[in-house]
Amino acid sequence: MHYPYELPDLPYAYDALEPTIDEATMKLHHSKHHATYIEKLNTALKDHSELHETALENLLANLDAVPEDIRTAVRNHGGGHYNHELFWQLLTPKATEPAGHFLKALETQFGSLANFQKELSDKAASIFGSGWAWLAMNQTNGLEITTTPNQDTPLPDQLMPLLGLDVWEHAYYLKYQNRRADYIEAWWKVVNWDIVNKLYEIELD
Ligand code: MN
Repeated sequence: MHYPYELPDLPYAYDALEPTIDEATMKLHHSKHHATYIEKLNTALKDHSELHETALENLLANLDAVPEDIRTAVRNHGGGHYNHELFWQLLTPKATEPAGHFLKALETQFGSLANFQKELSDKAASIFGSGWAWLAMNQTNGLEITTTPNQDTPLPDQLMPLLGLDVWEHAYYLKYQNRRADYIEAWWKVVNWDIVNKLYEIELD
Protein backbone atom coordinates (compact mmCIF):
# COMPACT_ATOMS: atom_id res chain seq x y z
CA MET A 1 0.00 0.00 0.00
CA HIS A 2 1.41 3.38 -0.96
CA TYR A 3 0.30 6.85 -2.11
CA PRO A 4 -2.31 7.67 -3.32
CA TYR A 5 -4.27 5.72 -0.76
CA GLU A 6 -7.81 4.55 -1.49
CA LEU A 7 -10.66 3.36 0.67
CA PRO A 8 -10.89 -0.42 0.28
CA ASP A 9 -14.32 -2.00 -0.07
CA LEU A 10 -15.46 -4.02 2.91
CA PRO A 11 -15.26 -7.76 2.26
CA TYR A 12 -18.94 -8.01 3.38
CA ALA A 13 -22.07 -5.85 3.46
CA TYR A 14 -22.53 -3.08 6.03
CA ASP A 15 -25.23 -5.12 7.76
CA ALA A 16 -23.34 -8.42 7.64
CA LEU A 17 -22.12 -8.25 11.23
CA GLU A 18 -25.55 -7.57 12.73
CA PRO A 19 -26.45 -7.86 15.55
CA THR A 20 -22.89 -7.77 16.95
CA ILE A 21 -21.93 -4.61 15.08
CA ASP A 22 -24.85 -2.66 13.66
CA GLU A 23 -25.17 -1.46 10.10
CA ALA A 24 -25.19 2.27 10.96
CA THR A 25 -21.94 1.95 12.91
CA MET A 26 -20.25 -0.01 10.14
CA LYS A 27 -21.35 2.49 7.52
CA LEU A 28 -20.15 5.55 9.45
CA HIS A 29 -16.98 3.84 10.58
CA HIS A 30 -15.97 2.79 7.07
CA SER A 31 -17.36 5.50 4.78
CA LYS A 32 -16.72 8.48 7.09
CA HIS A 33 -14.08 7.75 9.73
CA HIS A 34 -11.81 5.54 7.65
CA ALA A 35 -12.35 7.62 4.52
CA THR A 36 -11.31 10.77 6.39
CA TYR A 37 -8.06 9.21 7.58
CA ILE A 38 -7.23 8.39 3.96
CA GLU A 39 -8.16 11.84 2.70
CA LYS A 40 -5.98 13.54 5.32
CA LEU A 41 -3.10 11.12 4.77
CA ASN A 42 -3.15 11.86 1.03
CA THR A 43 -3.29 15.59 1.70
CA ALA A 44 -0.27 15.37 4.00
CA LEU A 45 1.78 13.38 1.48
CA LYS A 46 0.73 15.33 -1.61
CA ASP A 47 3.77 17.61 -1.71
CA HIS A 48 6.19 14.93 -0.51
CA SER A 49 6.72 12.99 -3.72
CA GLU A 50 9.86 11.39 -2.25
CA LEU A 51 7.52 9.32 -0.06
CA HIS A 52 4.96 8.36 -2.69
CA GLU A 53 6.47 4.95 -3.39
CA THR A 54 7.21 4.12 0.24
CA ALA A 55 4.93 1.48 1.76
CA LEU A 56 2.70 2.84 4.50
CA GLU A 57 3.97 0.11 6.82
CA ASN A 58 7.51 1.43 6.43
CA LEU A 59 6.47 5.04 7.04
CA LEU A 60 4.71 3.99 10.24
CA ALA A 61 7.50 1.70 11.46
CA ASN A 62 10.05 4.51 11.01
CA LEU A 63 8.18 7.67 11.88
CA ASP A 64 11.43 9.41 12.86
CA ALA A 65 12.41 9.28 9.18
CA VAL A 66 9.22 11.06 8.11
CA PRO A 67 9.70 14.83 7.62
CA GLU A 68 8.73 16.72 10.72
CA ASP A 69 6.07 18.88 9.04
CA ILE A 70 3.95 15.82 8.24
CA ARG A 71 5.06 13.37 10.95
CA THR A 72 2.01 13.85 13.16
CA ALA A 73 -0.36 13.61 10.19
CA VAL A 74 1.28 10.39 8.97
CA ARG A 75 1.23 8.96 12.48
CA ASN A 76 -2.45 9.75 13.07
CA HIS A 77 -4.03 9.43 9.62
CA GLY A 78 -1.57 6.87 8.24
CA GLY A 79 -2.05 4.84 11.41
CA GLY A 80 -5.79 5.29 11.05
CA HIS A 81 -5.71 3.92 7.52
CA TYR A 82 -3.38 1.03 8.33
CA ASN A 83 -5.32 -0.01 11.43
CA HIS A 84 -8.74 0.11 9.79
CA GLU A 85 -7.65 -1.60 6.58
CA LEU A 86 -6.57 -4.51 8.80
CA PHE A 87 -9.57 -4.27 11.12
CA TRP A 88 -12.12 -4.84 8.33
CA GLN A 89 -10.33 -7.97 7.19
CA LEU A 90 -10.32 -9.28 10.75
CA LEU A 91 -14.11 -9.34 10.94
CA THR A 92 -16.54 -11.81 9.38
CA PRO A 93 -20.11 -12.98 9.78
CA LYS A 94 -18.88 -16.57 9.29
CA ALA A 95 -18.00 -18.90 12.15
CA THR A 96 -14.23 -19.37 12.18
CA GLU A 97 -11.73 -20.76 14.69
CA PRO A 98 -8.08 -20.40 15.62
CA ALA A 99 -6.25 -23.40 14.14
CA GLY A 100 -2.99 -25.10 13.32
CA HIS A 101 0.35 -23.56 14.25
CA PHE A 102 -1.33 -20.40 15.41
CA LEU A 103 -3.60 -22.17 17.90
CA LYS A 104 -0.63 -24.12 19.27
CA ALA A 105 1.39 -20.95 19.75
CA LEU A 106 -1.56 -19.21 21.38
CA GLU A 107 -2.05 -22.07 23.84
CA THR A 108 1.65 -22.23 24.62
CA GLN A 109 1.79 -18.50 25.30
CA PHE A 110 -1.50 -17.94 27.11
CA GLY A 111 -2.51 -21.40 28.40
CA SER A 112 -5.77 -21.47 26.46
CA LEU A 113 -7.84 -19.54 23.95
CA ALA A 114 -10.15 -18.46 26.77
CA ASN A 115 -7.24 -17.09 28.82
CA PHE A 116 -5.95 -15.20 25.81
CA GLN A 117 -9.38 -13.71 25.14
CA LYS A 118 -9.75 -12.64 28.74
CA GLU A 119 -6.35 -10.99 28.78
CA LEU A 120 -6.91 -9.09 25.53
CA SER A 121 -10.43 -8.09 26.60
CA ASP A 122 -9.19 -6.79 29.97
CA LYS A 123 -6.44 -4.75 28.33
CA ALA A 124 -8.87 -3.35 25.74
CA ALA A 125 -11.38 -2.42 28.43
CA SER A 126 -8.74 -0.60 30.46
CA ILE A 127 -7.48 1.67 27.66
CA PHE A 128 -8.08 5.23 28.78
CA GLY A 129 -9.74 7.15 25.97
CA SER A 130 -9.29 5.99 22.38
CA GLY A 131 -6.99 3.28 21.18
CA TRP A 132 -6.45 -0.29 20.10
CA ALA A 133 -5.71 -3.65 21.70
CA TRP A 134 -3.54 -6.01 19.69
CA LEU A 135 -2.25 -9.51 19.41
CA ALA A 136 1.08 -9.20 17.65
CA MET A 137 4.11 -11.24 16.73
CA ASN A 138 7.49 -10.08 17.99
CA GLN A 139 10.93 -10.38 16.39
CA THR A 140 11.48 -13.88 17.81
CA ASN A 141 8.08 -15.12 16.58
CA GLY A 142 6.55 -14.88 20.04
CA LEU A 143 2.98 -13.71 20.59
CA GLU A 144 2.31 -10.58 22.64
CA ILE A 145 -0.74 -8.62 23.68
CA THR A 146 -0.22 -4.90 23.52
CA THR A 147 -2.23 -1.69 23.34
CA THR A 148 -1.69 1.57 21.49
CA PRO A 149 -3.27 4.98 22.09
CA ASN A 150 -5.15 6.91 19.40
CA GLN A 151 -4.26 5.54 15.93
CA ASP A 152 -0.75 4.43 16.81
CA THR A 153 0.25 1.03 15.44
CA PRO A 154 2.44 -1.66 17.03
CA LEU A 155 4.91 -1.34 14.11
CA PRO A 156 7.45 1.03 15.77
CA ASP A 157 7.91 -1.59 18.52
CA GLN A 158 8.89 -4.20 15.91
CA LEU A 159 5.56 -5.94 16.44
CA MET A 160 3.49 -7.24 13.53
CA PRO A 161 -0.22 -7.12 14.30
CA LEU A 162 -2.20 -10.35 13.86
CA LEU A 163 -5.43 -9.20 15.49
CA GLY A 164 -6.59 -5.71 16.41
CA LEU A 165 -9.55 -4.41 18.35
CA ASP A 166 -10.71 -0.84 17.80
CA VAL A 167 -11.98 0.61 21.08
CA TRP A 168 -12.58 4.15 19.85
CA GLU A 169 -16.12 5.16 20.79
CA HIS A 170 -16.90 5.55 17.06
CA ALA A 171 -16.56 1.75 16.80
CA TYR A 172 -19.38 0.98 19.22
CA TYR A 173 -21.13 3.98 20.71
CA LEU A 174 -24.34 3.96 18.61
CA LYS A 175 -25.23 0.47 19.79
CA TYR A 176 -23.35 -0.03 23.05
CA GLN A 177 -23.12 3.58 24.33
CA ASN A 178 -20.81 3.55 27.37
CA ARG A 179 -20.78 -0.26 27.62
CA ARG A 180 -17.35 -0.86 26.12
CA ALA A 181 -17.01 -4.22 27.89
CA ASP A 182 -20.20 -5.49 26.21
CA TYR A 183 -18.90 -4.43 22.80
CA ILE A 184 -15.61 -6.21 23.46
CA GLU A 185 -17.32 -9.40 24.58
CA ALA A 186 -19.60 -9.41 21.52
CA TRP A 187 -16.75 -8.55 19.14
CA TRP A 188 -15.17 -11.99 19.63
CA LYS A 189 -18.19 -13.49 17.80
CA VAL A 190 -17.22 -11.76 14.56
CA VAL A 191 -13.43 -12.20 14.63
CA ASN A 192 -12.13 -13.72 11.41
CA TRP A 193 -9.75 -16.36 12.76
CA ASP A 194 -9.06 -17.59 9.23
CA ILE A 195 -7.24 -14.31 8.59
CA VAL A 196 -5.40 -14.43 11.93
CA ASN A 197 -4.28 -18.00 11.17
CA LYS A 198 -3.09 -16.86 7.76
CA LEU A 199 -1.25 -13.76 9.02
CA TYR A 200 0.53 -15.93 11.57
CA GLU A 201 1.71 -18.35 8.88
CA ILE A 202 2.89 -15.46 6.68
CA GLU A 203 4.88 -13.95 9.57
CA LEU A 204 6.41 -17.34 10.42
CA ASP A 205 7.88 -17.72 6.92
MN1 MN B 1 -12.12 3.11 14.14
